[in-house]
Amino acid sequence: MKRVVIVGGGFAGCAAAITVAKAGLEAVLIERRNALSGLGAWTGHLVTWVPRQETKLLGGGGAELVATLESLTLHAGPALGVPDHILAFDATQTDARMERLVRQWGVQVILRRRAVDVVRKGDRVEAVILNDGTRVEGDAFVDTTGKGGGMEVCEKYGQGCVVCVVQCPMWGDRVSISERAEVADVSTGREASYLGAMLLAMESLSLEVQKRIIEGVGGYSYHPLPEEMVGMDVTRYWRRPEQPPTTTLYRSHIEFLHMPFAKIYRPNIPTDVLHQIPGFENAWHINPMAGGDGQAVQLDSIAPHDTTMRVTGLSNMFCGGVRAGRYRGFLEGVCAADLAGYNACREAQGLPIKSLPETTVIGLFFARINQGHMYCDWPPGLAASAECDIYRERGLATTDMTKIRQRMEEAELVGMYGRKLVS
Ligand SMILES: Cc1cc2nc3c(=O)[nH]c(=O)nc-3n(C[C@H](O)[C@H](O)[C@H](O)COP(=O)(O)OP(=O)(O)OC[C@H]3O[C@@H](n4cnc5c(N)ncnc54)[C@H](O)[C@@H]3O)c2cc1C
Repeated sequence: MKRVVIVGGGFAGCAAAITVAKAGLEAVLIERRNALSGLGAWTGHLVTWVPRQETKLLGGGGAELVATLESLTLHAGPALGVPDHILAFDATQTDARMERLVRQWGVQVILRRRAVDVVRKGDRVEAVILNDGTRVEGDAFVDTTGKGGGMEVCEKYGQGCVVCVVQCPMWGDRVSISERAEVADVSTGREASYLGAMLLAMESLSLEVQKRIIEGVGGYSYHPLPEEMVGMDVTRYWRRPEQPPTTTLYRSHIEFLHMPFAKIYRPNIPTDVLHQIPGFENAWHINPMAGGDGQAVQLDSIAPHDTTMRVTGLSNMFCGGVRAGRYRGFLEGVCAADLAGYNACREAQGLPIKSLPETTVIGLFFARINQGHMYCDWPPGLAASAECDIYRERGLATTDMTKIRQRMEEAELVGMYGRKLVS
């Protein structure tokens, strides 16, 4: 049986691995940490409604992942005319659920091992080498190693390591296998540190604040910032002289998402500043572990690739997740990973690889990423912004499931990722 090796067990890697297993090939998933889900375990917010429906109809690993997250729904609120456009789920359960899910599909999971090198012959990758020296051979490979850390990156673009959720001191730095295969990343031009979403323990907030967060429509709530804080440069205490301010309290309110802990959606506020706001006097940060003054540096560089997700210059390596684009949320990375896993199988089986047609939101999204600019904004459902005009003009922005299914059927995409490629 042909084997596909997927490196990086975030949401993207999990989706790719299940897609491979569904196609009937041996799927090996390598993750440097002791749990799956990657940054996904800190998310809690599922957006982009139309691509979510297309993902489900394609029937691959992404469909399984979405179904799992939907089963963990805490709030599903209407917005922009879409019934459950804003879906908040219980992210605290994702790592355990993801591990059960991938194992249930027969994926071979290797935890606590980091791919540190690649064996390349010509344009083909033959194996990855793990940090204990093990050689894992494969017929095709998928790079879903994310873009968080490692410590050198955080030193260069941030304030050094703050022991964030990427946990480099414990498991070692992130290593991209496409770069190890001598394919240089493409910069998306956003190499700066920024503060990741912050999570607060609910019990550390006043009862009134807790109630507002829990009862917010779709899990969302807004809390006014004291007037004197609006516009405050909260990085002034700790940024180096050569670094620009990365976080100013440019809004008049804080946006929260209930997860079941409290996620500050934006803006991010250091602990001591937060403590000055009524109701937040005892607020306790869960993430980043440095307690609010830290950063979560994600180096915005991606593996060069085409609309099939094949890494440029390598015939049998594909990329997914945030390695495949500067994406805002995880769903688009999961869509890329599904396609990467599917095409890795086709390549391994000697079949021609595929792109998704532009008659789908996902296909058009991937095509636009590769037309001159390496990233673009995902159409957030039916959002009114101009960046989504092209989706509206082509009739792709719709909540009509019959129409979505029809266009997917016409393109012969329904269930495509769920069909075996091996008899
Ligand atoms: C705090 C926070 C909150 C967020 N909230 C949301 C949200 O609500 N909604 C949303 O849509 N998006 C959200 N995002 C963004 C989203 O989490 C990410 O875009 C997405 O999860 C990235 O998935 P990924 O699988 O591509 O990468 P990652 O999750 O980074 O996964 C990469 C995996 O690869 C592993 N790895 C790396 N190198 C190696 C190696 N050499 N060998 C073995 N393993 C390796 C890593 O340990 C990691 O598990 C949030 C991000 C953060 C940080």
